[in-house]
Amino acid sequence: MFVDSHAHLDGKQFQTDREQVIARAREAGVETIVAIGNGDGPGTLDCGIQLAEKYEFMYATVGIHPHEAKQAAEADFLELEELAKRPKVIAWGEIGLDYFYDHSPREIQQQVFVKQMELAGSAKLPIVIHCRPSSNTEEDAWEDCLGLIHQHWAARGLGGILHCFTGTWTHARRALDMGFMISFAGNVTFPKAQQIRDAAKQVPLARMFIETDSPYLAPVPHRGQRNEPAFVRETARQVGELLGLSMEDVGQQTTENFYRFFSLPEKLKSV
Ligand SMILES: [Zn+2]
Ligand SMILES: [Zn+2]
Repeated sequence: MFVDSHAHLDGKQFQTDREQVIARAREAGVETIVAIGNGDGPGTLDCGIQLAEKYEFMYATVGIHPHEAKQAAEADFLELEELAKRPKVIAWGEIGLDYFYDHSPREIQQQVFVKQMELAGSAKLPIVIHCRPSSNTEEDAWEDCLGLIHQHWAARGLGGILHCFTGTWTHARRALDMGFMISFAGNVTFPKAQQIRDAAKQVPLARMFIETDSPYLAPVPHRGQRNEPAFVRETARQVGELLGLSMEDVGQQTTENFYRFFSLPEKLKSV
């Protein structure tokens, strides 16, 4: 059994075969998928909820991605506050900082990030963090992101998830100390991603999630294709190789972590 803790299934990449993609995930043993609700930004902020309300085995998030931070207006924050009350919403995200693409000015990204931490705190939801520095060896976004979390979030005790983790063990440890889970995606299988594999060897298995970030970052051996939730098995396989465990063991443990972290009933298992 597996949980794909992070997938974007709302987009046009899945327009023609979304049903089959979801059916393949179920056949592959994926029992739960978190439908990330960023969409294309304001105007599409309920996209994760729509999926989670259609499929019983899905949960949803809401939030404005750092890419679209410059589009965020007061009305969008009010909408998010309302959407966050819907029963299938389990987290606020993905939110954070992306200094690689810089689609929004960094100062705006930071403001929108802090604002959403306040809203998530009021909604009592953990946060899903996207953090990408200007290059893999830069500290810029990590310093700002972990610093803002420390300043504006950690004391709330709600924790969160560092999604699609690409940092070092030092970054992971700082987040673990603030109650975060570390989620590994398909890029842990990429030949050049030794830094991610080194971190994965050190993160306690009990604090780990796995995800696809579909449709992005398809793992080896599907690299370059559209990613889909069934491929979460490849992340589990790679993490298992690093830890000397089977793919199934990693799936089982990360699934238990997921239910425990979100205090969710495991009733969906029988669906
Ligand atoms: Zn992301
Ligand atoms: Zn994502």
